[in-house]
Amino acid sequence: MLHRHFNAPAIAHIIGIRCPDPLDVADRVMWRWTSQHTFVLKSAYMHLASSHWPPRQTIWKLIWRMAIPQRLRLFLWLAYQHKIMTNATRYCRNLAPSPICPLCGNLPESVLHTLRDCVDVRHLWSQILPDAVQRPFFGSNLHNWLSCNLSATFIHPTVGLPWPLIFSAFVWQMWKRRNDIVFNNDRQSDHSYCARIIAWARSFHGSISAPSAARDTAPSFANQVSWKAPEQGWVCLNVDGAVSLQSGFGAIGGLARDSLGDWLVGFSKPVGHSDALQTELWAIYTGLKFAWESGFRHLLVQSDCRQAIDLIYSNAASSSMLSLVRDITRLRRMDWEINIIWVPRDTNRAADIMAKLADTSDFSLRVFTDAPPEVVSFIELDKSRL
Ligand SMILES: [Zn+2]
Repeated sequence: MLHRHFNAPAIAHIIGIRCPDPLDVADRVMWRWTSQHTFVLKSAYMHLASSHWPPRQTIWKLIWRMAIPQRLRLFLWLAYQHKIMTNATRYCRNLAPSPICPLCGNLPESVLHTLRDCVDVRHLWSQILPDAVQRPFFGSNLHNWLSCNLSATFIHPTVGLPWPLIFSAFVWQMWKRRNDIVFNNDRQSDHSYCARIIAWARSFHGSISAPSAARDTAPSFANQVSWKAPEQGWVCLNVDGAVSLQSGFGAIGGLARDSLGDWLVGFSKPVGHSDALQTELWAIYTGLKFAWESGFRHLLVQSDCRQAIDLIYSNAASSSMLSLVRDITRLRRMDWEINIIWVPRDTNRAADIMAKLADTSDFSLRVFTDAPPEVVSFIELDKSRL
């Protein structure tokens, strides 16, 4: 019916909304900009600010996740926004009589000029730049220049350190050097700048890589958790949801196993346009209905979404803003023994694969009586660890 009246993108939005139920609570005003639909000041700010400062730009993640000291991250972030106090910026704000660069005295001192293009800085860069990056390095605009160099994956051929680390240390030192010359009249030899930057980068890299190597190996064994089977006579239903970052489309999946870890039945289904929380709730809700219809009456549900579990067990679940939480509450009250628990994502891999098997062109529930080949190895692995 929907296909007769709507185009595909509209249908995806409609499918993501649960059907109205006359026995349900009355309509009410809700806040659109959070997944739980309750007002949070931060969400209002993010919504208002997103029109002129998109918070999802990859550059923010790139800068703030770099393994460099916080002051360097902050500096790179300001530089990216043209917010460091060069003469050109100060001139625009009526804080300086001239926009001209104090080092070369030739050109306006923009961010790119002071960090890269000034003749006084350019020759320092050429002392450390690997040949492979010389040409594109001096040709790009500020944003491309910062993003490309900070996301580069190569190791400097002579220094032997990741290029983004050397690059960010160099950029920071060029700004410090400029300020030393301008404010303290302190100009050191070119060689001492390069040597100092490399020495600092080496020591910093050593300090972050040594302990993290120990961190990476020890807990990966200690934290290795495995799937827990239900008690005898009970069925374990693992459910999961996945949302495509590109399309915003959600898909859910689940699988039921017995106390020996053997496959009973599974399902997958696309849920249209959805967010992460709603998709996880769809997975639990659909899983419960599916389990009830399959005749299971002693059911352990495992989900890796703590937020969904918290909502389901909150005191206000039966009047929750989210209709799926209210539906799940109703299903829980039926005549069966049921427990919904949170499990770490690593133990829920089979359900994740089931969600990814959903056929996005068909919104009906896909039922698997036999384990699909994609999940067999996960089921066997879970069984072997019991
Ligand atoms: Zn200059």
